[in-house]
Amino acid sequence: MSATVSLHPSIDNGVKPGRDDFTGGTLQCHCSKDPVRVRIQAQTSFNHACGCTKCWKPKGALFSVVAVVPKDKLSVTEHGEKLQVVDPKATIQRHACRDCGVHLYGRIENTEHPLYGFDFIHTELSSETGWSAPQFAAFVSSIIESGADPANMSEVRSRLKALGLEPYDCLSPPLMDAISTHVAKKSGVLKS
Ligand SMILES: [Zn+2]
Ligand SMILES: [Zn+2]
Repeated sequence: MSATVSLHPSIDNGVKPGRDDFTGGTLQCHCSKDPVRVRIQAQTSFNHACGCTKCWKPKGALFSVVAVVPKDKLSVTEHGEKLQVVDPKATIQRHACRDCGVHLYGRIENTEHPLYGFDFIHTELSSETGWSAPQFAAFVSSIIESGADPANMSEVRSRLKALGLEPYDCLSPPLMDAISTHVAKKSGVLKS
């Protein structure tokens, strides 16, 4: 078993617990000059490792680490003019710095979407500590689509498990249940 596979720098040496009294901080892109800054006035929820091909990952990492906050708790405070949407057709509009490529936040503009109202952020972009800890790993199989060796998948999954991050190939069961509940209420199958 190689120790060279980097899942993500913020979890490779163990998952750091969050703080219950934590109330937010400031995200900053990687530009040394005129960085984009985004203020978050809330603790994050549903922090997780994500293996999809769309979320921003630091160099060499197999996974992104991404969490959500209510969108009214997020404000761009500096150099918002450098932000551009990576893929305007994607469900989540990921706003990235045009100079360094870091994603500052992802927003869902479709008001019918089950996760509308939440923005997706990477708390590793903040110098504050106390953000909620990652709880699970989503879209694990998708790392193969970004070039990960399929032969290493059992090692990747066992490392995630050892870190306490249950690996799933979609989202976690509570999130999948919430999404299906939303869909069933909209269609009338479930009475709200
Ligand atoms: Zn930047
Ligand atoms: Zn993702």
